[in-house]
Amino acid sequence: MQNNPHTTLVTAEAPIAADTHGGRAKCLQRLVRLDLPVPRTVALSFDAVQRIAKGELPDITAIVSQFPEGALLCVRPSSEDPDWGGPGAVLNVGMNDKRLEALSDRLGKDAAYAVNTRFVQSYSVDVARLDPDMFDDVEGEGCQGLTDSLRAYEAEMEEPFPTDPAEQLAAVLKSMARAWDGTSARLLRQAKGAPADAGLGLVVQEMALGLGHGQCGSGVLQLVNSDTGLPQITGRYLSQSQGRDALEGDAAALYLGRDPRGPSLEELAPEAFEALKTHAALMRVKLREEMQVEFAIENGELYILDGVRVARSSQAAVRIAVQLAEDKIISRAEALMRVQPRTLSELLHRQVDPGAERNVIGRGIAASPGAATGQIVFTAADAQASASRGDPCILVRRETSPEDIRGMHAAHAVLTERGGITSHAAVIGRGIGLPCVVGASNLRFISSKKQLVTKDGKVFNAGDVITVDGTRGEVLAGAPKMREAALDESFQKLMEWSTEFCDIGIRANADTPADAQTARNFNAQGIGLCRTEHMFFEPGRLTVMREMIFAETSEDRRAVLERLLPMQKADFKQLFDIMKGQPVCIRLFDPPLHEFLPTDRAGQRVLADALDLPLSDVTRRIDAMSEYNPMLGLRGVRLGVTVPEIYEMQARAIFEATVEATETGAAVVPEIMIPLVSAKREVELVKSSIDAVAATVRTEMDASFDYKLGVMVETPRAALRAAEIAPNCAFLSFGTNDLTQMAYGLSRDDAGRFMSDYVQQGVFPEDPFHVLDTDGVGELLKLGAERGRSAQEGITLSICGEHGGNPESISFCRDAGFDYVSCSPFRVPVARLAAAQLAI
Ligand code: PEP
Ligand code: MG
Repeated sequence: MQNNPHTTLVTAEAPIAADTHGGRAKCLQRLVRLDLPVPRTVALSFDAVQRIAKGELPDITAIVSQFPEGALLCVRPSSEDPDWGGPGAVLNVGMNDKRLEALSDRLGKDAAYAVNTRFVQSYSVDVARLDPDMFDDVEGEGCQGLTDSLRAYEAEMEEPFPTDPAEQLAAVLKSMARAWDGTSARLLRQAKGAPADAGLGLVVQEMALGLGHGQCGSGVLQLVNSDTGLPQITGRYLSQSQGRDALEGDAAALYLGRDPRGPSLEELAPEAFEALKTHAALMRVKLREEMQVEFAIENGELYILDGVRVARSSQAAVRIAVQLAEDKIISRAEALMRVQPRTLSELLHRQVDPGAERNVIGRGIAASPGAATGQIVFTAADAQASASRGDPCILVRRETSPEDIRGMHAAHAVLTERGGITSHAAVIGRGIGLPCVVGASNLRFISSKKQLVTKDGKVFNAGDVITVDGTRGEVLAGAPKMREAALDESFQKLMEWSTEFCDIGIRANADTPADAQTARNFNAQGIGLCRTEHMFFEPGRLTVMREMIFAETSEDRRAVLERLLPMQKADFKQLFDIMKGQPVCIRLFDPPLHEFLPTDRAGQRVLADALDLPLSDVTRRIDAMSEYNPMLGLRGVRLGVTVPEIYEMQARAIFEATVEATETGAAVVPEIMIPLVSAKREVELVKSSIDAVAATVRTEMDASFDYKLGVMVETPRAALRAAEIAPNCAFLSFGTNDLTQMAYGLSRDDAGRFMSDYVQQGVFPEDPFHVLDTDGVGELLKLGAERGRSAQEGITLSICGEHGGNPESISFCRDAGFDYVSCSPFRVPVARLAAAQLAI
């Protein structure tokens, strides 16, 4: 057999690898190399198992002859990645009358019968595929139990139970090999990331029985707590048990170390316990991982049957990786590679406890991670009223608009019926770390009745308690148990180490001082996008803004803007102060003006009162401003060109704040970004007007300052014509939300309705608003970057659409030589880790 590479005795030197024999076989070989008391083991390769599935058996006698005469065997799966699972283990293979007798002498009658009965039953169910119910009437595992079990098998199969150990082993191998090929097994492992052609290896191991005279039993031990990742010896042990018995019968299982809840392994078998701890510690160091040790004790003697990676929560995953690096067992780079960026996003927010019961009442797009519970409210005003009473609430809207921002701030989570990953609710939710589910189209929102109705007709009213799980995109009834955010020391260390490796900048999209503070707390390297329009929704400003919109002449408009100027200036000053000299990129006003006007009659009446105008005037003006397609209408730079007073006011506010912030703190070089550009002339016009404002402010304030002007590339034309646009700019920042919308001709606010159908039917591999479409939109990015750079060497390139926080998109931008990515503050840690992993 030594010559057969497919059926190999596991020794220190045997040619065994995870990609030929599976992770379990490889791990067992490592344990053998460490001289641990591992029972004799034979590994069958993926190839051998594949042939077995086709009916080509290996030399079974040769396998059996590797074990001592009369030994019982167990067969376990060994897939390449242990997480991919595999068929259940079959224990005690080889049991027959002759061995029953021999075992009775060695272990005692009870134990021998128990072993035999269990084998007959598990063989019947796992190998012969008989119904487990047929053993319901069998009583106990003694002589009668065995006879009854054999009878039941023979009655069903109409043949005697096999007694030849080689025949039994052959049947076990065949059944496990075929189980791997079953459809549900295939789907299950593919869902865990296994490739379609993933192989299965098998290991045949001599049984350490765990039953008999003296201290016998089996269990598992690990050195850390799976929930917290903190050092703690945990596990289960059960006397007179085998396999996973100790993990199943909760009441009967014993504990490992001394424990007030009952007798422990430490008390029953102190030497074995000590040895176990030593072996586990050695495994941690040599296998470079926190391992769960599976062990058996036979008459006081310890056997190590297996080792598997400790299962771990997100928090534990970070702690374990960091601690292994701190203990110099792995490098920092390896610690970084071991944590999935997605894991971090779970740590940054409260989550539904993984063990909690989930009463799911609706599903939508997981737009902003984290979970929150609260009473349903249907309006932003109710959300604010709730917050002022101190009651947590969930804001439920058909979709949100800028007018809902204060309500969103007051709510603990947001749920919308419409919208996609870049809709208003989603963008704001991610920006402020608010759990959010959008596009929950299987829930109906009846605003007239203030009701939320589920698919099966269940009605939820205002005040009913629901939970929004923005990590999974689910809405749950009631208040499941939560797990708190876990930004502990290990998290901070991981972030520090990420920074050491990152070779692409990570900035944050931040609109408010609170966002900027969050960005700083997560060590963002500046602000990559400040959407200034959000500043106009503050109380007191909206009315002034509306007055400005209603101004008849340029002079009138300037006069109103004069009143907005100090407010904007204060906003920018605060941002500059918080960012302490780090770059702050401010985007000039972007949305269509009518977004600031009331849509309903009541609101229009209030506005008419405030402006002292007849209601009919107000409605007429609002109607006149309405557009068929506002996202492609009078917005962005088009406003800058046609209503230049707004950009001039904003530029003045930026420059005056720059001078004041520089006087009291670090020097500021503001970055000013023009949105929605499609033509070179737009940039030239805005540039000359901003340059003129800068000159005026320099003279007026008798101060000198620099600033950088850049263009947001978010129309396909701007990307294509980057060569003529770039010479007027210090930077180009790709706004991939609008660029995706325009490249596909796909509304970012409406795509949520059919996106899941599109993805399910394979039209799009992913939601392109979520993961950058590297083929199409990506080509525009590459073209824009190349053309921009060829016209102006050294021009700064970045991305500030929502894709900036997505690991695959970051990889694309890094390959394209971008200088930085900018994403919502709460995604900065994820982006940083993803970028570090790319650089390692
Ligand atoms: C974009 O279009 O990518 C962008 C960042 O701007 P906004 O989402 O504000 O349109
Ligand atoms: Mg945009």
